[in-house]
Amino acid sequence: MRNILLVISGPSGVGKGTMVQRLSETGEFAFSVSCTTRAPRAGERDGVEYFFLDKEQFERKIAENEFLEYDNHFGNYYGTPRSFVEETLKEKSVLLDLDVVGALSVKKTYPGAVLVMLIPPSIDALKARLIGRHSESEEQLRIRLSRVDYELSLKDRFDYCVVNDTVEATKDILLKIISEEMNREERRNRP
Ligand code: ADP
Ligand code: 5GP
Repeated sequence: MRNILLVISGPSGVGKGTMVQRLSETGEFAFSVSCTTRAPRAGERDGVEYFFLDKEQFERKIAENEFLEYDNHFGNYYGTPRSFVEETLKEKSVLLDLDVVGALSVKKTYPGAVLVMLIPPSIDALKARLIGRHSESEEQLRIRLSRVDYELSLKDRFDYCVVNDTVEATKDILLKIISEEMNREERRNRP
């Protein structure tokens, strides 16, 4: 079996974080904790959901080439620490939760990365999920929802698109994809 770099992407509120948590519980993945300049939400812990940095700290890391990829969206920086991914992949599969631009950027560096876009069952369902999370201001909701069409327009560039209807059904589909992908290289490498 090969270690895979699995990227879960899709619009804000589609359920990426929820699915990443469920996949982390399988013990098959190390989750790559990103850096961000966004303020922590209630209950978020530094070093667990994100490394929370200020703009100056983040820009220093950019200058020192510490990110595998980074992007500025929804008014904040988000970036993937390069060394964690590089080192961990030698031992274990790695799971990333990235916006669509970050996901496509990772694919350029790691063509073997597996990109999954989670798709909402409907725009109304997506809105309901975002509102139900109670984490965003009216303004943030508007900004996040205004990017959905653009995000979904990139879906053909992803390896898999999965409609995130129920958590359990989506988890089952992802486990099947993961199993196939982990065995793929092994099959190819066999004489
Ligand atoms: P993202 O990380 O993509 O922004 P979250 O994982 O935070 O999304 O999910 C947004 C909200 O939707 C959360 O309140 C979460 O509990 C809920 N949620 C996640 N997946 C589902 C699902 N399949 N069906 C219904 N609600 C969901
Ligand atoms: P949130 O503020 O809701 O936690 O995340 C906003 C968006 O940033 C989500 O689409 C999430 O996947 C994305 N994101 C989180 N970490 C990173 C990262 O390291 N790089 C990029 N490009 N996007 C990220």
